[in-house]
Amino acid sequence: MPLRSYVQGSWFTPTAEGAPVYDAVTGEQVATVSSDGADMAGVVAYGRGTGGPALRELNFHQRAAMLKALGGHLRDHRDELYALSVRTGATLGDSKFDVDGGFGVLLAYASKGKRELPADTVLVEGAVEQLGRGGQFVGQHILTPLRGVAVQVNAFNFPVWGPLEKFAPAFLAGVPSVVKPATATAFLTARLVELIVESGLLPEGALQFVCGGVGDLFDHLTDQDLLSFTGSASTAQRLRTHPTVVGRAVRFNAEADSLNCSILGPDAVAGTPEFDLYIKQLVNEMTVKAGQKCTAIRRALIPESLVGDVAEAAAAGLAKVTIGNPADESVRMGALASLDQREEVRRSLKSLLSVGTAVFGDPEHVDVVGADAERGAFISPVLIRADDPERAEPHEVEAFGPVSTLIGYRDAAQAVELAARGQGSLVGSVVSADTDFVRHVVLGVAPWHGRLLVLDRDDAPESTGHGSPLPALVHGGPGRAGGGEEMGGLRGIAHHMQRTAVQASPKVLGAITGRWVRGASRQDDGVHPFRKSLAELEIGDSLTAGPRLVTSEDVAHFAEFTGDTFYAHTDAEAAAANPFFDGIVAHGYLVVSLAAGLFVDPDPGPVLANYGIDDLRFLTPVYPGDELTVTLTCKAITPRGDAAHGEVRWDAEITKQDGSVAAQYDVLTMVANTWPLP
Ligand code: NDP
Repeated sequence: MPLRSYVQGSWFTPTAEGAPVYDAVTGEQVATVSSDGADMAGVVAYGRGTGGPALRELNFHQRAAMLKALGGHLRDHRDELYALSVRTGATLGDSKFDVDGGFGVLLAYASKGKRELPADTVLVEGAVEQLGRGGQFVGQHILTPLRGVAVQVNAFNFPVWGPLEKFAPAFLAGVPSVVKPATATAFLTARLVELIVESGLLPEGALQFVCGGVGDLFDHLTDQDLLSFTGSASTAQRLRTHPTVVGRAVRFNAEADSLNCSILGPDAVAGTPEFDLYIKQLVNEMTVKAGQKCTAIRRALIPESLVGDVAEAAAAGLAKVTIGNPADESVRMGALASLDQREEVRRSLKSLLSVGTAVFGDPEHVDVVGADAERGAFISPVLIRADDPERAEPHEVEAFGPVSTLIGYRDAAQAVELAARGQGSLVGSVVSADTDFVRHVVLGVAPWHGRLLVLDRDDAPESTGHGSPLPALVHGGPGRAGGGEEMGGLRGIAHHMQRTAVQASPKVLGAITGRWVRGASRQDDGVHPFRKSLAELEIGDSLTAGPRLVTSEDVAHFAEFTGDTFYAHTDAEAAAANPFFDGIVAHGYLVVSLAAGLFVDPDPGPVLANYGIDDLRFLTPVYPGDELTVTLTCKAITPRGDAAHGEVRWDAEITKQDGSVAAQYDVLTMVANTWPLP
């Protein structure tokens, strides 16, 4: 049965039969894959013309709420996805990694969107930069969604997580996605997309699905489109150099296979917790998803004297792994995704074994349960001991399966050098409790890595492991790993947006960003801003209160009352000897407290709670005899979706009688949507 694409708002059946796709376990044909007849120019135009505008109508919070709802909807159907996932050769554990991992990305981005992004369509990045002396010429970076489509080309090994980890940040940024699955496991991604479309949760055009070849899709891309790729280095190179991608400067991101290393510290000898952690992790990374993880450990870098112990312990661990039909509960490792992949792995193994010895496993033979080892794409884990750490093959040849090579190193310097021979990796790990060794190695290998896990007895119980990319952290790596970055929290959203430096007056910049900018005018209509609900409050509403005389008694009382008797507040002679002060100085927290005493409106009202202060700076010392005046200005208003309250950020500036600024900060409050409360 041919898999369908979802393009231009409807399901499309290909006009040609297409390539057959087989069950990785039984060898039976599951489906055929082709995109023949799909109108690629139409796909791009539909994304741009329908998906983009619909997404840009929504603010970040509304998009985040949709991602959350989608995550929940998909979770309700996960058993169905697990069942199909078995046909890709995955065990239940592997499927959870892929399926639940994908939902996890949706939910993590939903939560980020709600908590860290504004209820707006423009993102503001960094602080306002003062560009002129008078404060009337300022600059700030803003981010707006690109007006094109995000074409996402996925690898076969994560048919659910892969598309979702690319889709979530694009969607939150406001850019429609065109998802292309890898052919070998497209039947699982196709079901995922059916579930998404059936849910009706997303705006039309936000997601299209091209199941099969991309045809002339790339020819229609422009400067406003993105192309993200996961797969082999050779395809990455082909896509990166596509004439349209180069000619139109299409934003391109690649995540390719890499020869990730895991480095055991010399302190981690047999019998230490770190040695055991290292072995467990190595065996795990080799066998989860049958080693078909772009983040799997390919090179185990081990102190020369410990190679024998590691080989023995890891071989013992691998011997316990039951291989076979993932539907059988005793099975810990399933099949590769296809017979072609097994051929590919065997080819790579020939090369690796030409410069090493197998200490576990035989590439041509494996005992399996509940399946036919030849009809299914089964292969034994193979652990190799390199004859010579300097030979090129282990640092250059990737067997994309349950394969790792043990490589002995002399000292920390050689470990760093060997790690760098991978020419850029997605992830590396250092397993050691020796912090000097760890610092040396981490700083030495970091330029070649997108992510580094340092594992020891302290973080092990909570560690998410070497092989797990996380939505909050960057996934990608330099050089051979593709030179790209995915996810990484807000970074992944920003990737889909254009960063523009806007130079303007504070008033105009504020109008653009929806935030009050220092230097812009304020309004004071005589109503205390704390008496205004979210519905009534406006950006720029302000209040000036004071002056308040600060006395020696205030300072002495505050010192005694709080116990903060630091000499600058209590000992005039010692304070005067301090290069920053001319005598006894008021506590900074006293100054801030006095300001609060000036600006609060004491009666119950729409301001429900003060929940923090940001960017507090004490700029000029306050001495007894000084008079303080505070100006509070409504800077940003962030409603909280369905909640009955939202966040208000106030600019606070405390000045002294001579106009000098004693302190500046943002006050954060929760304010009711309406008052009195319903
Ligand atoms: P490919 O690079 O061939 O395929 C990856 C994706 O690119 C698939 O969706 C594929 O589609 C698509 N693709 C291939 N050629 C083109 C093209 N000319 N234009 C547009 N899209 C294209 O990798 P494979 O899946 O074949 O795996 C090969 C090797 O890649 C593995 O053995 C492994 O070494 C590595 N790999 C790395 C991964 C990683 O995460 N870094 C993941 C998976 C594999 P289609 O399937 O339809 O051809």
